[in-house]
Amino acid sequence: MNIPLAKIPILNKRVRFPVSPHIPGGLATPADLCRIAAVAEKYGGTLKIAGGNIVIIGLTLADGEAAMNELGMRPESFLSNTIRGVTMCAGKPDCPRAQQDSTALGLALDEEFFDQQTPGKLRIGVSGCPNCCAEVFVKDIGLFGTAAGFTVILGGSSGRQAQVGSIAAGNVPAEETAALIRRIVDYYRNNAKNKERLGQTINRLGLDHLVSQAIPSQYRLSK
Ligand code: SF4
Repeated sequence: MNIPLAKIPILNKRVRFPVSPHIPGGLATPADLCRIAAVAEKYGGTLKIAGGNIVIIGLTLADGEAAMNELGMRPESFLSNTIRGVTMCAGKPDCPRAQQDSTALGLALDEEFFDQQTPGKLRIGVSGCPNCCAEVFVKDIGLFGTAAGFTVILGGSSGRQAQVGSIAAGNVPAEETAALIRRIVDYYRNNAKNKERLGQTINRLGLDHLVSQAIPSQYRLSK
């Protein structure tokens, strides 16, 4: 049963509702920004820009739900067991260092994977070159571009139990990355304990276990 949160009196009295529309890649048009600003103004909220997100803060629960409906945009996911919006660097054509089109790939991955259910929180990041501006070594699944394709890093986290991910695959063509991530996410669903991050699953079972089950041999770094 789906009861609007604003109908629950105790929540409505105490909770402030951060309105955070999902903006794939953080790429917004001026019209998008004007619409978000107008809704924030209408409900007396303040805008907070955090990473690729714009959040309207300071609203009551009832106003927050009304504002979200009025925006007509999907909300960001704050649940602990979902795939978050994909982070991507500027990449081609905006960055002269880009070796792969991180924006096109990041948007395609966001379209497919955002908000899917997983055992724990899962973050994906895509960088266009080894400079890794999208902080892909601290994403559960990170990719950076090289002239030969994408290198895949698994098990990173910037959260409470921060850790640097491990390079698990290389030379993956852009058009094959979604299929590879499907295999990794399937592995995660089949092997993780409830609320375990991918890096914790890897710590428990070993990277070799994941690689043997989820990474096709042509992308393994030691074959
Ligand atoms: S990771 Fe590379 S391509 Fe992406 S913004 Fe940084 S320098 Fe540019």
